[in-house]
Amino acid sequence: MSGKAEIGREDRAPLMDDFEAGELAIEFDDKEPEEMLEWAFERFGDRLAIVTSFQVDTLVLIDMARQITKDFHVITVDTGRLPQETYDLIDAVRKKYGIQVDVRFPVAEHVERMVGKHGMNLFRDSLEKRLLCCHVRKVVPLTQALEGLDAWITGLRRDQWATRSNIRKVDLDHDHGGIVKLNPLADWTHDDVWAYVREYGVPYHPYYDQGYTSIGCTPCTRPIKPGEDSRAGRWWWETNAPKECGMHCPIETGGFEHEVHAILGDQAEFKELDVDTEWAELEDQ
Ligand code: SF4
Repeated sequence: MSGKAEIGREDRAPLMDDFEAGELAIEFDDKEPEEMLEWAFERFGDRLAIVTSFQVDTLVLIDMARQITKDFHVITVDTGRLPQETYDLIDAVRKKYGIQVDVRFPVAEHVERMVGKHGMNLFRDSLEKRLLCCHVRKVVPLTQALEGLDAWITGLRRDQWATRSNIRKVDLDHDHGGIVKLNPLADWTHDDVWAYVREYGVPYHPYYDQGYTSIGCTPCTRPIKPGEDSRAGRWWWETNAPKECGMHCPIETGGFEHEVHAILGDQAEFKELDVDTEWAELEDQ
């Protein structure tokens, strides 16, 4: 995919192979996240980062990490469409834990070309354009941020959505140069997370108290209704579409199309997009 940045890690020796990752995934599956974080800091040192969108799960991990060390790397992506409350939370977290937050932004030219061609709110027009927007505003900056790292930590949990039900605690991220992807909370539940937040006084986004259960960009997030799935408030106008943006199952490698087709089957709401085509056009302009 032409929009994907080159990954420097590919030039270095492999960190671990799929066999070792599988063995570690089994070993850590019944371990506490703190134990996994300690191991990760020791194994990867400063080539490791917690990647967060400041949802509650990764805030739990930041709190745990801060109890282990004060020297860890936190990365977030500012899409340019976040609610003010998210920016307030970023600063509150920086202050509380005494940490730096590495804020990454989309490539300005990419955004300019995209909105110039499709409008400011292109994500309302079709699934393809929503994926394109997520790709430009989230996936590319994340890919760039992961360059040079050996491992990244996420707050993914198996109970968040069908596409996440099989995630392992240790995996190789072949979409980002084969670096290691760690999901220490994979086996935690929603209730586990909130029990930790209350016990340790972890700061969290005020939207959670207003009925939101998953928080992203302002125009693409709303509170859920009683009985709805926890990610139903993301891109709620889309039907039979995966509640994913491509950060965790990238579009450009074929993985995302595979997920979409696996979920949609013959319901061709996702028409062989043209995220790739659109992206190539944007780059060529
Ligand atoms: S969540 Fe919405 S505004 Fe944010 S990057 Fe994706 S489509 Fe664009």
